[in-house]
Amino acid sequence: MSACETPNTPPASTPKADYALALHGGAGTIQREKMPPEKEAAYRAALDSALTIGENILKNGGSALDAVTQTVVFLENCPFFNAGRGAVFTHDGKNELDASIMDGRDQKAGAVGCVMHVRNPVLLARAVMEKSQHVMLTGAGAEQFAQENGLEMTDPKWFFTQERWDALQQQLAEEENKTGMTPPDPNRKFGTVGCVALDRQGNIAAATSTGGMTNKRWNRLGDTPVIGAGTYADNAVCGVSCTGHGEFFIRYAVAHDVWALMNYRGMSLQAATDEVVMKKLVEKGGDGGLIAVDKYGNVALPFNSAGMYRGYAKPGERQISIWR
Ligand code: ASP
Repeated sequence: MSACETPNTPPASTPKADYALALHGGAGTIQREKMPPEKEAAYRAALDSALTIGENILKNGGSALDAVTQTVVFLENCPFFNAGRGAVFTHDGKNELDASIMDGRDQKAGAVGCVMHVRNPVLLARAVMEKSQHVMLTGAGAEQFAQENGLEMTDPKWFFTQERWDALQQQLAEEENKTGMTPPDPNRKFGTVGCVALDRQGNIAAATSTGGMTNKRWNRLGDTPVIGAGTYADNAVCGVSCTGHGEFFIRYAVAHDVWALMNYRGMSLQAATDEVVMKKLVEKGGDGGLIAVDKYGNVALPFNSAGMYRGYAKPGERQISIWR
C-alpha cells in the first residue's frame, strides 16, 4: 500500500458503487422448517417493498438520510417486524419503542427511548437530531418534544399484534425468576428493523428502530437508541445498524467497534464486521447481527443467529435473504 492511500481503500479492481442500501428486519431463531411458505413469501415481499422505497430515493439522487428514514418508516408500519406496529410487549403489557438515526456527513445523531404514543419513532429520532440541541430523549419528555414538533401521535392500540401478545403471555407463563427479562430463550425471535445507505453524493446514514425485547421491565433500553452500540454512521468510513441481544451490543459498542476496526486498523468492511459479529460477539454469547455499508458501497450483512431478515440493493444487484 502506498503512503498516500487511506487504509480502507478497496483493491483497484473494486469500483465504487454509485449508491448502496442495506436493510434488516431483525435476527434470531427463525426456523426454516417451521415457517409456512405463505409466511416466508409475505416477509420477503415486505422486505422487497422496503428495499424499493429506499432504492428509489437513492436512484433519483435523494439523500441517504431520507432513504434510511423512509425505509424504516415502512418497516415500522409493517406488523411483521418488532418496531412500531408489531412491537413486542413489556412485562406490563405495553409497547415501549426505541429508535435512532445518524447522519454520516457531520455525525449528528438523534435517538429516542421508551416512547409509547409516537407512531413512527424513527421520525422522532430524526426530529431530535434536526430540531434539538440533544442526541437522546426518553419517555414523557420525548413525547412532549414530539407533540411540540407536530409528530403524529397514536393510540398505543395501533402497535398491537396478537402474535406479540401471545409471545408475552408465553414468556410470563415460563418465567421463573423475577429479576428482569426472562433469561435468553433459545427460541427468541428478534425483529428490530434498520437501514444503512450510501447516496450518490457519497453521504452515509444509518437508522434503527425497535420494540426491544419481550417481557422487558423497568424502562429497559437496549442498544437500538444508543449511538455507537446499535447505530453509527461516518461518511469517511461506514454506516452500521444492529439487531440482537441489546445488552451485549451496548457492552461491546458493536456499531462503533466496526467503525474503529476499519478506521484504526485499516480492516475491510467484511473483515471488520466478521470480527465483531462472528468472533467477538460469539465468544461473549451475544446473539444477533448487523448490516453495514462502507464509503465505497460495499455491503456486509453478518449474523451469528439462525437467521436474519435482510436485503441490499445497489446498481445492478439486489438480494433478499432470511437464512444463510
Ligand atoms: N437489539 C434490540 C434490543 O435489544 C432487540 C432486537 O434487535 O431484536 O432492544
